[in-house]
Amino acid sequence: MPSPVWHPYAHLKTQAAAPRVVGGRGTRFTLDTGESLLDATCSWWCMIHGYGHPRLVDAIKQQADTLCHVMLGGLTHDPADQLARELVRLTPDGLEHVFFSDSGSVGMEVAMKMAVQYHHLRGHSGKRRMLSLMKAYHGDTAGCMAVCDPEEGMHSLFAGYLPEHHFAPAPKAPYGATAQQVEADLAALRSVLEQHHHEIAALLMEPLLQAAGGLNMTSPHYLRGARALCDEFDVLLVFDEVATGFGRTGKMFAADHADITPDIMVLSKGLTGGYLGHAATLATTRVHNTFIGDSQLHAFMHGPTFMGNPLACRVALESLRVFEEEDYLGKISHLNAILTRELAGDDSLRQHPAVADVRVLGATGVIEVYDASSLAHAADIARSRGVWLRSFGRWLYTMPAYITSDEEMRQIIDAMKAPFLDAA
Ligand code: PMP
Repeated sequence: MPSPVWHPYAHLKTQAAAPRVVGGRGTRFTLDTGESLLDATCSWWCMIHGYGHPRLVDAIKQQADTLCHVMLGGLTHDPADQLARELVRLTPDGLEHVFFSDSGSVGMEVAMKMAVQYHHLRGHSGKRRMLSLMKAYHGDTAGCMAVCDPEEGMHSLFAGYLPEHHFAPAPKAPYGATAQQVEADLAALRSVLEQHHHEIAALLMEPLLQAAGGLNMTSPHYLRGARALCDEFDVLLVFDEVATGFGRTGKMFAADHADITPDIMVLSKGLTGGYLGHAATLATTRVHNTFIGDSQLHAFMHGPTFMGNPLACRVALESLRVFEEEDYLGKISHLNAILTRELAGDDSLRQHPAVADVRVLGATGVIEVYDASSLAHAADIARSRGVWLRSFGRWLYTMPAYITSDEEMRQIIDAMKAPFLDAA
């Protein structure tokens, strides 16, 4: 009998049987057939230390012996308290309060709800809509679907069910653009804000790297400009660092490239090193203190059952220790150098007629093609070379674990280039 497991994002009629994973160590996981695959996307970008990291596994075991779970309603515990302190220390100055939840989507729901209530408590109850960007992806819950790209995003079928928000064009200026080159992108943002700021609670963005909506990269100048526009129009700036956080763009957080502090920041994925699902929504004191007041409406009415789960917090603390002690930012810059030289710097790949763009940021490398059909066999070709790589739409990308060796990084890059060599 076929497995009753219903797989995500799968077309049930055409889906191939899912390979069965029986274990993982380092950058690789093993299938029940004995096949070992080098994971080029570290399980949707979260397994930043790779699989079976002894320190992370031990942290979970030790915590399990002490306390697996307890509600955070009216109670607290050391792992939650310590992790919140560490996140405040590591994130941009001014983010001083931490609301835990269980996934990136819920972390974003918390951020949006916080933004609406913040304005309501300040007497601006008309500010109930979000401003998001085209090419955005913020999650699959209803609130998040409503702020994903409404045209090209995967949720267009649900129009009518979802609340309607405002959208500005996705930024076009690349990472290395000058301040002048981002002016057109910022003018487009300004124009939406000028027209609709009275009903906009927050501007949401995946800073520098719009991930699942097409791996679109932009410049730190865009982030700075967005910060200034939000201040001018009394709109909160929410950074969704679910994908970009914990080193993916080359600095600890994408916000660090621009030296700015958003009003609210959402973290997940790499937060626990991928070992357990969890998220954190951080807020500045200005946002937090708006919730201090006498009316019943001042309470923030949100509380996922598993928020602050001790196992998740404990493994997140260990993940951060390993990150700092083992100089992960150094490792990421090393991976970046290889990707820049051997992927983005490969002229024959860039000049291939099927290839629209090749770009790299931090430990992220992307090949964008003109037509998705050019990538139809990319996953199979990679697998035949021992690499687990999945394309989506017109994008073939790698977001490897930061422990990936030079040789493994080359194996991944070669697997990414293979569909273009074989067709040439
Ligand atoms: N925001 C971004 C930028 C993401 O990439 C994702 C997941 N890919 C989410 C939010 C949603 O996170 P989750 O899948 O944990 O709900």
